[in-house]
Amino acid sequence: MKLSTKIIIALIAGGITGLLINLFAPGIFPQLDQFVFTPLGKIFLNLINMLVVPIVFFSITLGTAGLGDPKKLGRIGLKTISFFLVTTSLAIIIGISLSYVFQPGNVGTFDTANAEFESKEAPPVSETLLNIIPTNPFQAFTEGNMLQIITFSVFVGFALTMLGDKTKGILNLVEQGNDLLMYLVNLVMKFAPYGTFGLIVSAVGSQGLDAIKAMGLYMSVVLLALLIHSLFVYGSSVALLAKKSPVWFFKGFAPAMGVAFSTSSSNATLPISMSTAQKNLKVPESISSFVQPLGATINMDGTAIMQGVATIFIAQVFNVDLTITQLITVVLTAVLASIGTAGVPGVGLIMLAMVLQSVNLPVEGIALIIGIDRLLDMTRTAVNITGDAACAVIVAETERKREISKS
Ligand code: ASP
Repeated sequence: MKLSTKIIIALIAGGITGLLINLFAPGIFPQLDQFVFTPLGKIFLNLINMLVVPIVFFSITLGTAGLGDPKKLGRIGLKTISFFLVTTSLAIIIGISLSYVFQPGNVGTFDTANAEFESKEAPPVSETLLNIIPTNPFQAFTEGNMLQIITFSVFVGFALTMLGDKTKGILNLVEQGNDLLMYLVNLVMKFAPYGTFGLIVSAVGSQGLDAIKAMGLYMSVVLLALLIHSLFVYGSSVALLAKKSPVWFFKGFAPAMGVAFSTSSSNATLPISMSTAQKNLKVPESISSFVQPLGATINMDGTAIMQGVATIFIAQVFNVDLTITQLITVVLTAVLASIGTAGVPGVGLIMLAMVLQSVNLPVEGIALIIGIDRLLDMTRTAVNITGDAACAVIVAETERKREISKS
């Protein structure tokens, strides 16, 4: 049986098992979760997290060195960042528009009196941007600071290209290191169906079904926006810009989406999303290893959608009418917030505070959605990494055509 089929079966089986325990035997859930499901999930998460930092370093260094020409790096960088910014803005606009159509905050009653949320100070975006240059790369490695590791690796890759034969030995080492890590990814993926199963049962089993009912409309609007964004924005850009079939794209990338769904973490899914894009979507290693780690760190369309819907939802619950200028502010800050969101579970909700503050909405509103955010986090993470893969396919195809027309 193919791995993707196994992962999909594990997702469905996990969902059903979690739901059955939730409905019929909630009493036994804590023990089962502690001794069976959480350990299964944790083993898998640790296994893939173990590979993330070295993979980002080896693959980006190799990718940058593989591009050869610094001009090409600039062109790919520009295409990538433009795609990220445009799609993230579209994502928020879709989220906001659907919230105005369905009015999730005006249907039902919400307990605003008891809502409490302690917002953490989000680092100013200017600081995040300046901090992408690591003062100590080793610290960046030990802390797993993705943007800093990316910057350092691009520099090393660039230097390897410039120095050519002089550093052939280091290039060989990086090449072999990359092969070694890709081998390990394939090995770890054999455990994916079991890990996925454990993670899903844990997530579904611990959800309060009443809370889900109360927040049903908000959740449906977020899910609908995620679906529309994936099908139309990614589907049409893959079809129009890369001239590839969207069905081929989604089918090929499905295993990585399944893993993102179960882990709720773009970072943790990175090794798998890269190997899936390289194997199933035929994205050259040099492009995949540049676009996808960057995307996993700064491109979060699913998160942006949630932030757009949540902002309008909270405005509706607290009876605040937002002006057009405020809506534009929401779009701009949500783009920044999603760039600043780390690819780990739940951070999108913390960054939402920044968006709310930008238009003076009460951050306590976050308390209303925090209880049901886990399920949405799973779905939006799958969308987050799909955007990165769509970008990788488009960059790869446009570069390939360029090469052909040149020769
Ligand atoms: N969990 C998301 C991710 O890793 C980030 C978020 O929206 O919380 O992509």
